[in-house]
Amino acid sequence: MAENPFFAPSALPYRLPDFARIREEHYLPAFEHGMAEQLREVEAITANPEPATFANTVEALERSGQILYRTTIVFSSVAASDATDRIREIETEIFPKLTKHDDAIRLNRALYARIKQVTTDDPQEAWLLEKYRVDFVRAGADLSEPEQLRLRELNEELTRLATSFSQNLLKASTASALVVGDPAELDGLSESAIKAIEKDGEYVLPLLNFTNQPALAELTDRNTRRRLYELSVNRAPENFGLAVRLATLRAERAALLGYSDHAAYSVADQTAKTTEAVEEMLGKLVGPAVANARREAEALAQEAGFPIEPWDWSFYAEKVRKSRYDFDGAELRPYFELDRVLRDGVFHAAGELYGITFTERDDLAGYHPDVRTFEVFDTDGSQLGLFLFDPYARPTKRGGAWMNNLVDQSHLFGHLPVVMNNLNITKPTQGPTLLTFDEVTTAFHEFGHALHGLFSDVRFPRVSGTEVPRDFVEYPSQVNEMWATWPSVLANFARHHETGEPVPAELLEKMKAAERFNQGFATVEYLAAALLDWAWHKLAPGQTVEDPEAFEAHALQSAGIAFELVRPRYRTNYFAHIFSSGVGGYSAGYYSYIWSEVLDAESVEWFKENDGLRRENGDHFRTALLSVGGSMDVMDAFRAFRGHDPRIEPLLERRGLR
Ligand SMILES: [Zn+2]
Repeated sequence: MAENPFFAPSALPYRLPDFARIREEHYLPAFEHGMAEQLREVEAITANPEPATFANTVEALERSGQILYRTTIVFSSVAASDATDRIREIETEIFPKLTKHDDAIRLNRALYARIKQVTTDDPQEAWLLEKYRVDFVRAGADLSEPEQLRLRELNEELTRLATSFSQNLLKASTASALVVGDPAELDGLSESAIKAIEKDGEYVLPLLNFTNQPALAELTDRNTRRRLYELSVNRAPENFGLAVRLATLRAERAALLGYSDHAAYSVADQTAKTTEAVEEMLGKLVGPAVANARREAEALAQEAGFPIEPWDWSFYAEKVRKSRYDFDGAELRPYFELDRVLRDGVFHAAGELYGITFTERDDLAGYHPDVRTFEVFDTDGSQLGLFLFDPYARPTKRGGAWMNNLVDQSHLFGHLPVVMNNLNITKPTQGPTLLTFDEVTTAFHEFGHALHGLFSDVRFPRVSGTEVPRDFVEYPSQVNEMWATWPSVLANFARHHETGEPVPAELLEKMKAAERFNQGFATVEYLAAALLDWAWHKLAPGQTVEDPEAFEAHALQSAGIAFELVRPRYRTNYFAHIFSSGVGGYSAGYYSYIWSEVLDAESVEWFKENDGLRRENGDHFRTALLSVGGSMDVMDAFRAFRGHDPRIEPLLERRGLR
């Protein structure tokens, strides 16, 4: 056991997990040992005969569970990015135990009693103390014994269901893949794309985790498009039943905790605070967005010469882009080579704004050979943290793109941050990796989260970096997207991979003009998913759902967002954000993206008012907002940055909704 790498802190620089030494058989013993250790530490806190103080109670809790923390953070990262069959088995076994362990701490009456006795005059301590108090109450610390017993059962069952949901989904991406025998049916895809999906004389196009598959924009065969679309929206049908169970059990849990429904419970500790605030916000957007999408649909039907179906939308949207804006997205790809986008785009923008620099560290390995590691230095040359980058899709990686931490910054432990970004770019069989413009934007977005983690300058790990309310966390990353199209940044990274020529200015002009097109589609697709999430989590306790697909249709209808040509970005059966384990933390929270976009649009306006890409601007954003993480009221941090409360108008303007 002594050689289990999780039992002692990593000896590598920045305490980077020692992936070369970590093997699958280390996880379960490390989890078990880590949970037992933390329970002993908690027991020591409650057994302390001294009166409760911040140091001997709250800070002692912050210090507890280091082995468990190291194990969990590495395991969840690997389970998301490189989940072998064995990792998935461990996931199924360990998640319910972890839930039980959390409950054992949060429902510990002696511990809760001590927390309630603590007082402090220090503002950072007071903020953390209140966080702990609220965490405990929301976890059920105030409930009676029988109620707590039921709560524990519910939590375990919810964890099990969510794990099954995500595992079904991972399997469905290949199990429901489009399979064709004749490459002619794939006409429209590039030769290399077709070659990349050839398997034993067949062509297998796996599903990405959202409704509208990117290939729909290119496939010329209408029947192939229809088949792909139907496979996409009908994948993992067994997940409908799991979703109903998850939603009804969450409603029951909310009632136990004193809330009218799961949505009310979910937003209570967010910046939104009430369900009414969320509904008011979404309500302002639905009408104009649908009207916008209907106008776009008319233009598409005109282009097609017949009434289009949902699987035709992307294809004819591309055509309209070409004919009306004379713009072909594929023309841009040769200018977006991955390494250039990263170094001369993402890193360059951060260098200009914040004065930070990057050095690749080939000696520091990730969990997979494709993972790259960079050391990040501050303006004065001092160490800031590590950034790991895992750009490529693989069958063992879940869909989408995300940032996660491998080490949280904190002064308490003297830890510098180790953060990572995952993307899902198809790895070419040979030659350079060329990105779409969407993928470029995603790279900037995820790096915005990475900066939030890297610039964290707080005392306690519980409130480090991106540990902010869920409906706030997307805001800094969305702001960072603005630099992808900032003229000086774009000129720096967007160069032809063969000739080194910059993107022709007129191509960029066309791209910008074409960007406004299809905003109706994008907004409706998003809002429909947000409102579907909302409907599932507004279920009253005890309310049952007989037919989940009918429920889904009714939810969209009654929210005024039902539009047969634009389905939700995620249907119930593959809505991982709200039903999966790990990422599933967005239940009654998918609204967060547009909620954060209000702050984002305000902030982009501020940067533009202040001459954009300047060190002074970056420093102000970093000091007022990024560095404080969740160590204070984040809306106060926003006001300190922007100078006033957020207004919705800049968002409406951006989305073409006024
Ligand atoms: Zn994000």
